[in-house]
Formats: sequence, structure tokens, C-alpha cells
Amino acid sequence: MTKELPIPVTNADSAAYWQAAKNNKLMLRRCNACGEVHFMPRYLCPTCWSEDLEWFEARGKGKVHSFSIIRRASSAAYATRVPYVVALIDLDEGPRMMSNIVGPDALDIAIGDAVTLEFEERGDAKLPQFARARG
Ligand SMILES: [Zn+2]
Repeated sequence: MTKELPIPVTNADSAAYWQAAKNNKLMLRRCNACGEVHFMPRYLCPTCWSEDLEWFEARGKGKVHSFSIIRRASSAAYATRVPYVVALIDLDEGPRMMSNIVGPDALDIAIGDAVTLEFEERGDAKLPQFARARG
């Protein structure tokens, strides 16, 4: 079992997303036919199946829909991370995305808490993570 944390595996649908993340940008897809904003990146709108989509940068703000505190590592790579928080974040733009809550007070997270985006370097990639909003 590897002790290296996994790095993103990109495909044609997500390459632009991961490239933007390297520049600390969280990109979302908006459908120009029906207006739906979705995550994760896809080449078809999951609402109306249009291919007429555009990328735009998210503000990086949201609220915690739900979360779980992981206390037992799923692999050796995560043994140094436990306990850590996996959360569903409702982004201000609408989509719900799974991510981690990070930071010194991550374990104090509660449903409905405001969170802000930050990026974690992982190999030559960067992962969008969230921390509890200050103030
Ligand atoms: Zn659509």
C-alpha cells in the first residue's frame, strides 16, 4: 500500500479544471442553453444535455451541507492526516462539491458553516480545499 497521497488523474473533461487549479482558480461549468451551473466538470450539461458550456471562475465561498470526520485512515497514505474532515460544500454559485475542511479548527466544523477556498499542493497539482470562514 502506497504512502503517497493520491494526485488528480485528469481526463478531457477535467484537464482545464486541474490546469486552472494550479493557478489557484476553482473553475465551474455553466450551460449556455439552460443556465445550469454544474460540478464536476462534464462536456454535456447534466440538466439538458447541451454541449454549449462555458467555464467561469467560482468565488470560492460556500456553506457546509454535511460532513464526516474520518478517524481511521482508509490507506497508509492518510495515516498522518487523521482525524480529517470530508465535507459536502454548497458553493455560492449552486453546485455541491465534495472536498476537505482544512485548518487548525477544521474539526470544529458544523453544518451551515461558511467556508472559503484554499489550495493544497499535491505533487505538481493543487487541490481545492476549504477552511472555516473568518469573521
Ligand atoms: Zn443545460
